[in-house]
Amino acid sequence: MSVSGGLNGQPLLIAGGRVVCPDTGTDQIADVLVQDGRIAAVEPNLTGPDGVDRLAVEGMVLAPGLVDVHVHLREPGATHKETIRSGAQAAAAGGFTTIWAMPNTTPPLDDPAAVGYVRQEAKRWARRGQGGARVSPVGAASRRMAGKRMTEVGALVEAGAVAVSDDGLPIADTGLMRRLLEYTQAFDIPVLQHAEDLGLSAQGVMNEGSVATSLGLRGQPGAAESVMVARDVRLAQLTGGHLHVQHVSTRDSVEIIARARDKGVRVTAEATPHHLALTDEAVLGYRTEAKMNPPLRSADDRAAVRQAVVDGTIEMIATDHAPHHYEEKDREFDDAPFGVVGLETALSVCMRELVEPGLMTLNDLIDRMSAGPARAMGINGGSLRRGMPADIVIFDPDGAWVVDPRRFRSKAGNTPFAGDTLKGVVHRTLVSGEVRYASGVLL
Ligand SMILES: [Zn+2]
Repeated sequence: MSVSGGLNGQPLLIAGGRVVCPDTGTDQIADVLVQDGRIAAVEPNLTGPDGVDRLAVEGMVLAPGLVDVHVHLREPGATHKETIRSGAQAAAAGGFTTIWAMPNTTPPLDDPAAVGYVRQEAKRWARRGQGGARVSPVGAASRRMAGKRMTEVGALVEAGAVAVSDDGLPIADTGLMRRLLEYTQAFDIPVLQHAEDLGLSAQGVMNEGSVATSLGLRGQPGAAESVMVARDVRLAQLTGGHLHVQHVSTRDSVEIIARARDKGVRVTAEATPHHLALTDEAVLGYRTEAKMNPPLRSADDRAAVRQAVVDGTIEMIATDHAPHHYEEKDREFDDAPFGVVGLETALSVCMRELVEPGLMTLNDLIDRMSAGPARAMGINGGSLRRGMPADIVIFDPDGAWVVDPRRFRSKAGNTPFAGDTLKGVVHRTLVSGEVRYASGVLL
């Protein structure tokens, strides 16, 4: 692949696009000069130095590369579902330039060697020209993810961990959660919580309510999430630690987070594209592509989560990309695993759900998918400010495409959006000025 604008490449001038950068407050037609892997200038009618490579992107949006703090790469352990390589490439195809890899692999990322492996493997593929988004590993919060003893957080951070989490499972033990929120402050990293009271969710396979009743499926109430969010914000208040609530799915959770934020508690939150788009009615027909945890909720919950993303109470969108093999999802609803893929549909689904109906501007959506998570998590990205790494997505906002999982870069195709016609086609994704995804258009 081309290395134009990359560390050892020619300078690159990307000309004529609509530059949307919430961090710098830019939304105008302008040129972007990339040099030595960094943003060198953003201005209309730039000429650039002698010998500059030129890429014309009229009609396209040029934005900071998207940032996703919630991705499951399945490696080590379940490489038939996804690998570090395929997941990072799927991310780049979706316009993402930074992703955080969850630690619930086999074995889990609970020691420095496992954390280091994920980091090194992503870099190794990048050096071989087969990289995708940058991959930052999240360390496990508890050893073996058993929820009992804390991992050696300092050693994990040393090995490259950017946060800790037991995602897939909650950090259920209240004392452990308190100690994590205390201890992580020394390293200035967040504790990412999959908020679920297992006694309340009680192996429910979908949202508790009339749809579950009509399908004869065991439901889990929204309170299974919000009870734990309520506990955790109090622990964050007690300790001063950074609590990050993953995949918020209910109105009650949104209200608890908003109140805690008003009181100055250090809490951040994410919502997924599927919770923004769908309700539990998507499960009708026993569609396992609509089975995930937390489950799709009611229309009222969805409205609350959307509003929270619009007003910034939830400052970031994260996919919870959870690849599974076709045969694993092709089972009875009760037996199918939880999770859907999301990296390659996130931008388009969010444009359909939030921008097209006029709930928010494209600028604000880009914020929630780049600058928002970067700001909240202290990630060096999500901005086209001069001197920043040239992490860039170029997409056609009006380009229509049909979701065909067979064409995903991901190894998995378990998406509830298969067959949908969406708008927003990613044409280029650059990481540090290096092309990590190219659609074939714009060559
Ligand atoms: Zn989770």
